[in-house]
Amino acid sequence: MELLGNEAAFRRLEKMIASGRIGHGYLFTGAEGTGKRTLARWFAKAILCTGEHPPCSECAACKKMERLSHPDYREYSAEDRARSFPVETVRQIRQDCAVLPNEGKKKIYCLSNVQNMTMEGMNAFLKTLEEPPPHGVFLLLCPSAAQLPETVRSRLVQIPLQPLPWEQVEQVLTQRLADTDPGLRRQAAILSDGSVGLAMKLVQEPEFAERAKLAQDICQSLIHRREYELAGALAGLEKDGEGFLQVLQLTQRLLRIQLERDSFPLPQKQQLRLLELLEQARLRLAGNAHKGLTGAWLAIRMTEAVSMP
Ligand SMILES: [Zn+2]
Repeated sequence: MELLGNEAAFRRLEKMIASGRIGHGYLFTGAEGTGKRTLARWFAKAILCTGEHPPCSECAACKKMERLSHPDYREYSAEDRARSFPVETVRQIRQDCAVLPNEGKKKIYCLSNVQNMTMEGMNAFLKTLEEPPPHGVFLLLCPSAAQLPETVRSRLVQIPLQPLPWEQVEQVLTQRLADTDPGLRRQAAILSDGSVGLAMKLVQEPEFAERAKLAQDICQSLIHRREYELAGALAGLEKDGEGFLQVLQLTQRLLRIQLERDSFPLPQKQQLRLLELLEQARLRLAGNAHKGLTGAWLAIRMTEAVSMP
């Protein structure tokens, strides 16, 4: 299995499997794309494996898990609040869990986005966690442990997953999407917050290619102090509603990386001022400021910044 930076979490699960002591509840936390589901599925496969070195990937149980067709493994997901886990789903899980496993020794339920569970659902689920049947194993996935009530959290073994540094995300993109533009891969990696999933999605989005080019143009016009180009690039953002924020964020990160590496050809004082201005513009946009005006304001202020002594 590809670990992508989560060796520590993986080793912990491996030890639990080797010791044969499997608990009833686990909470995998981490941002989107950090590999929560991949790791949870690996864990489930290892628990259900009937081979000598679980997961052996050879026994019938492993094969079934690879096809996600093992009768003792179920996945549920709440994509958003509107489609959150209704209390009926939790009741179904409780009923199903009360029945003995079909083939294995355990019955495993993997629940994604549990932060979207309704309070009613959560309370019903808590009862299951308080008195789990001996064969029940619950793998809960959510971005942050703080999103769950303490009563639920305290009954779960927490497995926190860390986002990858962008350089590592870039390496993965280079392997998996070798025929895409290297500059684009780098920018997607920088914007991905360590999520390989998100970075892969970005690289393949035509809008992202345009936005990445704009962010690059903004940086270039700042370096060469070309105020008309800068104004032009920022004016173009007015039409791209969602993209405006993304371009500002990307520009900010590109500048910051160059600042850290000491590779931006402008004085540090000017760079810091630029970062500050980009942040202000982001806050204005987040507060629903007029896009055209914000773009024009930013162009004027940034031009001033790069002309500072
Ligand atoms: Zn196996």
